[in-house]
Amino acid sequence: MIEQVDIKESLSLEDYLAIPYLRRNIRDLELEAQTLVPHLKGRTTWMVNSTAKGGGVAEMMPKLVCLMRLLGVDINWAVINTDKMPFFDLTKSLHNMIHGVDKGEISSVQKEVFEQVNRENAVGLEKLMKNGDILAVHDPQPIALNHFIRKNLDIKSIWRCHIGLDSQNKATKTAWDFLKPYAEEYDMAIFTAPEYIPPYLAGKSSIITPALDPLSHKNRDLIPHKLTGILCNSGMIQEHNPVVTPPFENKAMRLQPDGSFAIATTPDDTGLLYRPIVTQISRWDRLKGFKPLMDAFVLLKKNIKKKVTDERHLRRLELVRLIMAGPDPASIQDDPEGKEVLKELCDTYVNLEPAIQKDVILLALPMQSQKENALMVNALQRCSTVVVQNSIQEGFGLTCTEPMLKGRAVLVSNACGLRQQIRDNIDGKMISDATNTEEIANALDSMLADPKKRETWALNAQRRAIEEFLIFTQAKKWLRTLSSLVAS
Ligand code: UDP
Repeated sequence: MIEQVDIKESLSLEDYLAIPYLRRNIRDLELEAQTLVPHLKGRTTWMVNSTAKGGGVAEMMPKLVCLMRLLGVDINWAVINTDKMPFFDLTKSLHNMIHGVDKGEISSVQKEVFEQVNRENAVGLEKLMKNGDILAVHDPQPIALNHFIRKNLDIKSIWRCHIGLDSQNKATKTAWDFLKPYAEEYDMAIFTAPEYIPPYLAGKSSIITPALDPLSHKNRDLIPHKLTGILCNSGMIQEHNPVVTPPFENKAMRLQPDGSFAIATTPDDTGLLYRPIVTQISRWDRLKGFKPLMDAFVLLKKNIKKKVTDERHLRRLELVRLIMAGPDPASIQDDPEGKEVLKELCDTYVNLEPAIQKDVILLALPMQSQKENALMVNALQRCSTVVVQNSIQEGFGLTCTEPMLKGRAVLVSNACGLRQQIRDNIDGKMISDATNTEEIANALDSMLADPKKRETWALNAQRRAIEEFLIFTQAKKWLRTLSSLVAS
């Protein structure tokens, strides 16, 4: 049965207004809200998705709802519920199919379960809604709610799809054909990138990208003492002096030459606060492109003496280290592909020649505490000379947005989500083929060689992240969409 979620988040615009670089965004948002929110008077907006915990949508929802409420929008959040396992099997398959993975056909029995779960949840939701309200459904799982609710209530509706692929195959076609009758009944749709819009929704879709909260643990500013404290507390640097905060219960672990994991300062200090650092932080997914990145870094190191004449750059390339970080193996027990990818990386690392191996650091970040994990990611990104996201496929890629906001130089592949964020040679550098080790090595070399260019790109990226990819812009776009929905 449908369940309304209590929003525990308590954002205060005052906290954000205290940060000088956010003032304009917030003032703009407030100004726009003054004009748009009155259009929504008398209507409640219902955000509905399939889970209150886990995953990007559930993480983003409390912030968005809280922010919209602060602006005067009457908005609630509800999640659908069922104990029918075949429903989840189908929705998982649909998710994979939208990403291009073939799962075969969808049977009429599966379709019946899908509709039944949506119909049952619609009964509960209908009791919460009234004529004139707005239904905003997220992702495929609850997409059929609209069909059932519209039978009895006069509502406006919008479907927000957080997933997509910029190419088509048999699997994507099966998924989008299945969703078509439900999706077409919505007044509007929202996607993350224009490439993800199926042709049958082209006329009524708009774009809203995911967004960052600049005060979250992952993104908030860290003064030098706080940053150093996090690195010490998580065991990522040696503690040469005492620090105020106590050690984290679970530390970052570093892959060792014998294939085991040990505290990250074994066999030597990571050099995070001293050396040039190239970082990629992602889930251990093959599509994140870790392996070609590691191969490229090895190539870069092998070619140092052959190519470089400039003394300073030579020194930089001698000192530079590659950090590859992701969730610790214990937290990915139920992810066989993740384990396999991590194992392949470990095997490659173990076989590197020692002179290069010492400059490649693979970190397993503990996931027990979300806060501590976020602080570790934040600190690692801030210590990086270049942050890489070498994805072969990427829906959006918050791991690119995060260093952009922090004013770090980024190197990305041209995967769809990443090219929504980075303009090549303006906000960072873009690789045309995430599997081409030579191209990646050359890109790293040229970025490391040119600190001025790095700084210019990083500043452009930071400006772009502040203007385009923060929760305030996201809320503004939602406001615009909702008010044009009721005007339509
Ligand atoms: N992340 C994290 N700890 C890790 C690895 C990744 O917190 O060990 C975070 C990362 O900072 C980002 C999110 O997980 O916020 C990944 O989002 P993204 O959009 O980049 O990719 P996805 O994993 O959703 O494909």
